[in-house]
Amino acid sequence: MKADIVTIFPDFFRGPLEYGITRRAQEMGLAAIQVHDLRECTHDRHRTVDDRPFGGGEGMVLKPEPLFECLESMALAPRDERIAGRAKQSVVLLSAQGQRFTQSVAAELALLDRMVLICGRYEGVDERVADFLANRELSIGDYVLSGGEMAAAVIVEAVMRLLPGAVGNERSTQQESFTVDSKSKDLGGADSTCGSNGLLDYPHYTRPADFRGIAVPQALMSGNHEEIRKWRRQRALEKTLRNRPDLLDGAALSEEDKKFLAQIKRDRG
Ligand code: SAH
Repeated sequence: MKADIVTIFPDFFRGPLEYGITRRAQEMGLAAIQVHDLRECTHDRHRTVDDRPFGGGEGMVLKPEPLFECLESMALAPRDERIAGRAKQSVVLLSAQGQRFTQSVAAELALLDRMVLICGRYEGVDERVADFLANRELSIGDYVLSGGEMAAAVIVEAVMRLLPGAVGNERSTQQESFTVDSKSKDLGGADSTCGSNGLLDYPHYTRPADFRGIAVPQALMSGNHEEIRKWRRQRALEKTLRNRPDLLDGAALSEEDKKFLAQIKRDRG
């Protein structure tokens, strides 16, 4: 995959792209990430990228010309081809007003050949960029950042680790929080696995078995695979019910799972 990031702060990405799996994906040739300095696409002495909003109001707005010029230099497929999915490319505008970025959006983006991320700043970006240049607007959550750079780094990391081969053990990215594995969903539940299937991940422990008097749960030490599976599944169900009950609707639940949830709810009174 080729990823392009358009920003007025190219140096911001020195850190985030140079560690861990994002770095590995680039070294392995699975991904090529290019950071573009928006100011390179300006032509005035002050390298102006922003201007005052029409209609008045606070702050400044990123101008359309440098953004259009920058993306036009990338030889991308036309916007309607990207929207129709005929081109495996996406131009994403990072925006607090965008659709929520989730694990399933990450999985969708991981299938692309090319992803362009446009980082906004100030009060935002001239709306013609959303309407005529980008083919989707994404938000990383319901809060306001000062710029799209953090959001772009989040998206790059979430997408890169899904590229086949980026994570040593591919099964590990299929069993994580939020991930619904289509095969097990079809089977109507996770009978043979404790993997996520749309739930939050189960708790993990490592050595020492006793840390300052706090022991690792007995079930994990039992060596009994069925007992371990059941324990992990139940903890994942409990944690999801406690922290993210909204996820239970979309999760693939077995009869055993449903009984267990009903039991917790009964116990709560
Ligand atoms: N006035 C805007 C916020 C602008 S913040 C509003 O109220 O919606 C400046 C830039 O930060 C945005 O253009 C966007 O690129 C980025 N940004 C802010 N919050 C974001 C979020 N939750 N997700 C993705 N990008 C965000």
